[in-house]
Amino acid sequence: MITVLKQGTSQAQMEHLIAWLKEQNLDVHVSRGQDYTILGLIGDTSRIDMELLGSLDIVESVKRVSEPFKQCSRQFHPEDTVVSVGKARIGGGHFCLIAGPCSVETEEQIIEVAEKVKAAGADILRGGAFKPRTSPYDFQGLGADGISLLLEAKKATGLPIVTEIMSAHYLDLFADVDIIQVGARNMQNFDLLKELGKTDKPILLKRGLANTLKEFLMSAEYIMSEGNQNIILCERGIRTFDTYSRNTLDLTIVPMLHELSHLPVIVDPSHATGKVRLVPPMALAAVACGADGVMVEVHNDPIRALCDGAQSLRPEQFASLAGKMRTVRKAVAQ
Ligand code: PEP
Ligand code: MN
Repeated sequence: MITVLKQGTSQAQMEHLIAWLKEQNLDVHVSRGQDYTILGLIGDTSRIDMELLGSLDIVESVKRVSEPFKQCSRQFHPEDTVVSVGKARIGGGHFCLIAGPCSVETEEQIIEVAEKVKAAGADILRGGAFKPRTSPYDFQGLGADGISLLLEAKKATGLPIVTEIMSAHYLDLFADVDIIQVGARNMQNFDLLKELGKTDKPILLKRGLANTLKEFLMSAEYIMSEGNQNIILCERGIRTFDTYSRNTLDLTIVPMLHELSHLPVIVDPSHATGKVRLVPPMALAAVACGADGVMVEVHNDPIRALCDGAQSLRPEQFASLAGKMRTVRKAVAQ
């Protein structure tokens, strides 16, 4: 961390500040220029309150040199993290295709979709049992019954399953779930993140609706700081001024996250766009920009879906998209 002192700072004022910084277990390197004096703070600066330091009368500016995230940073862990679930691998050059309905509705629905997406090449089955709906009057998901139906679909197809948790209170119900999803609305539910950090389950962490890259990685850091290193980051579109699509897919974050972090990064073009015809082009773009996986919503009867029918692919559309994704992957690997 670098602290630039204001012109006219006296020696006594500077020494007073240095003494305080040393009390925080930091070494201080003083560099005197013609106009400004710069203090280089060496050591663990993650607990230093930048705003407080910057508010002091003698401080001109404060800048972090290293990022506040540590365990999810590539500096801390240069090799890619590979998350393994059943036969599926995510990250480190392994690509993973996750597909399934927005919500689990009936046994017939989830088994039919599971069989069809498996036949088309999906590695993991998705399906919501606890649904975070904007309106309390909308379908809220089948809850524990939804998880039981997902487990039946897993038994029938062998596909690992991913489903969303909304409160740590329900953690026991997720004992046989392969990947626990934290939805966009809970990305900064820090108590939930801490509880999930104490488990050894892979966590699929979705980016919040209006969260920055730094906030996204700090949420991953919450999970990792409790011991769980198995995290998959998921870009799912953010709020912008445009209302044409449900959200705006921020694909720039994919290579940026790969640069800054070792965690695998996947993309959800379904929630990002909200429109079924926009899903295939954005899924292909996600593959092209290096995503470690794509998660899409697939429904056997989208028009009757209880949630997100407008963005759900029919199984045959998914099969066609899966083939194109394989082609794009081969093309970008050359
Ligand atoms: C979902 O994946 O089912 C979901 C609700 O997505 P998000 O949290 O990204 O809105
Ligand atoms: Mn959905």
